[in-house]
Amino acid sequence: MKGNTEEIDRYIFHGIHGPYETRRQERVLYLGSLRERVLKALTREQVREPWVYQEIIRAAHSKKAKKIIVSGDIARKHYKKYEELARQAGLRLKLSSSGRYKGDTGLVVLADQAVENNTIAVPGRMESYRGMNIPLPLSGGKKRKVCAKCYHRINRLAPELIGYYRRLRFFDKLLGERCEC
Ligand SMILES: [Zn+2]
Repeated sequence: MKGNTEEIDRYIFHGIHGPYETRRQERVLYLGSLRERVLKALTREQVREPWVYQEIIRAAHSKKAKKIIVSGDIARKHYKKYEELARQAGLRLKLSSSGRYKGDTGLVVLADQAVENNTIAVPGRMESYRGMNIPLPLSGGKKRKVCAKCYHRINRLAPELIGYYRRLRFFDKLLGERCEC
């Protein structure tokens, strides 16, 4: 009899606190949003990488996309490129209140309503770019100048990055600029 009461108590406790706790944790994970609204998410580290992830570009331009939220403790120089993306896609970009959401999430693209269960996380690209042995893009939006050989190599191995580079010109070389390779 006593056991039963405990069971019921536990049941009621979870009934009251369970879903609430889950939602609270979800909001911590996704910068104040519920998972059901998240189209794609990046980690803080991924936001700080110089390139804009293709998955985020696609999500931002999808019809369901409503806004982008960036973790408030990330420096503007790192998320400026996503401001630009938001502008191009006609979305609002908001900062989450700094330090409030302690999770690993750095950015989310949100839909205006609940979406079908999709894959939210974006696979990191740093490892694979490093493995390609190419000079990495510069952060801060400036194009990296590379030699013709590297330019072709990047275009072949990571064409999505080519916009972050330009070829060294004769004049650059005269000024002593060189490719990192
Ligand atoms: Zn080179």
